[in-house]
Amino acid sequence: MRIYDGKSVFGGIAIGRIHVYKKGEQQVSRRRIEDADVELCRYEEAKAEAIRQLAELHDKALREIGEANAAIFEMHQIMLDDEDYNGSVENIVRSQMVNAEYAVATTGDNFSQMFAAMEDDYMRERAADVKDISERLIAALSGQEHGHAATEEPSIIVADDLAPSETVQLDKNLVLSFVTAQGSTNSHTAILARTMAIPALVSTSGLPLDDTVDGKMGIVDGTNGVFYVDPDEETLGAMRANQREEAEKQGLLLTLKGKENVTLDGQKLMLYANIGNIKDLATVLQNDAGGIGLFRSEFIYLEKDRFPTEEEQFQIYKQVAETMAGKRVIIRTLDIGADKQCDYFEMEKEENPALGCRAIRICLTRPEIFKTQLRALFRASAFGKIAIMYPMITSVSEVRRIKEIAEEVKEELREQGVLFGEPEQGVMIETPAAVMVSDMLAPEVDFFSIGTNDLTQYTLAIDRQNTKLDDFYDPHHPAVLRMISMVVENAHKAGIWAGICGELGADQTLTREFLAMGVDELSVSPGSILPIRKIVIETNVEEYRSKTRS
Ligand code: PEP
Ligand code: MG
Repeated sequence: MRIYDGKSVFGGIAIGRIHVYKKGEQQVSRRRIEDADVELCRYEEAKAEAIRQLAELHDKALREIGEANAAIFEMHQIMLDDEDYNGSVENIVRSQMVNAEYAVATTGDNFSQMFAAMEDDYMRERAADVKDISERLIAALSGQEHGHAATEEPSIIVADDLAPSETVQLDKNLVLSFVTAQGSTNSHTAILARTMAIPALVSTSGLPLDDTVDGKMGIVDGTNGVFYVDPDEETLGAMRANQREEAEKQGLLLTLKGKENVTLDGQKLMLYANIGNIKDLATVLQNDAGGIGLFRSEFIYLEKDRFPTEEEQFQIYKQVAETMAGKRVIIRTLDIGADKQCDYFEMEKEENPALGCRAIRICLTRPEIFKTQLRALFRASAFGKIAIMYPMITSVSEVRRIKEIAEEVKEELREQGVLFGEPEQGVMIETPAAVMVSDMLAPEVDFFSIGTNDLTQYTLAIDRQNTKLDDFYDPHHPAVLRMISMVVENAHKAGIWAGICGELGADQTLTREFLAMGVDELSVSPGSILPIRKIVIETNVEEYRSKTRS
């Protein structure tokens, strides 16, 4: 048995035969030609054929994996019309009097090397796209088919790398999983894999792509990022047991997936997911979340030893928005401070950090940090349904100041001609002060999301980090429940919606109570979505209300 570690793109366990996919390496020879115009005519015909193929792939992807993911093939069509790319091909053909295949291969190599050397992650990833379109053109010029991973039995596909066009062509019924030696978790291929919901690993170190692997039994543990080749009986047995357990859970998922979160008497609930990282998106999709109710953006800051740049943040927010394909994605602005400390923020030591300079207080006192994040968020909003949420609010004046800063950021972007969207803006209700002025806050914003973790801490005056006080930390305390009810009522009076994104939202003993209060949204960890959906669809809210409120 051999074991390889990779980066997980999508969880789950796959067991089956391994099929090593080798790209049909196109041997391009350099030929002298007599007539450059005739050669460029061949090039134009090949380009038209490539565009036709890409349109077909776009339609297939649109049907199978949605608009946002199909967009890659539109992008490839646009790249084929790129003036610089076409200009380079024409120049090589005319100046060197050589065949179009050679000119395309040279241009493809030059452009992809240029992209690969760029600093920006997004541009670096475009190197694979340039290679992909060049190979497609060469195949069209030589009348071959652009490679795809053909297997006859359900297999684990092992490859050096897979281009997005190759991934989408995988026959989902025959692909149990894929494992690649290269590839980043942010690439379009990884986005596609997540949407296809198959266990997948990228960046798998030391992965051999030869007969020592091809045709052997393999296990992909997508959850833990491990690939077993030729597993021993013990591992096989343990993994089969894990797979059965997963399958049982999937049984529950299967019956509830695609169902609306609506009670027996017709009350609807939005069931969203909480994430802290882009890697969590896989389970969000797997569990059929209606959106993302809380993306804790501070984790982007915590993972670095310096401030993340606007561009780094933009790429992350854009990827989340695109992957969620039009579903609402609520991104909370950074909530650094208290238990989430970042050395490079160089914060002064505080006696009571939970009551100190944290979250929005840092943003309002250090607007340059805040503005960088807002620029990234407004820009990413042009690519999906992003909503921005501000944490630790205590007053109307804070919200007004935030809105002024947000307007300044939009004005700057407008002046610079930078594309941006118009996201919804909401606040977290997680301080007793915010609860008490929720009637005044509601007209200022688009939504409320109740942070019960902090609301419990500040209402009961109990440090949520202090494990000795666990027995006193009671989020079921009537004070907390009454506050939730009050916030929902004030939200509805102002015509906005109110949800819960703290851990209490996932407390299944309270789901009926939240419905009775009129809570519009619960944002929970992805694994809690379907069990809560089950409660929702089995509840009659009116009946519950009359039993509990008489
Ligand atoms: C909360 O306070 O309930 C919340 C969701 O935010 P965090 O747990 O990140 O403070
Ligand atoms: Mg909080």
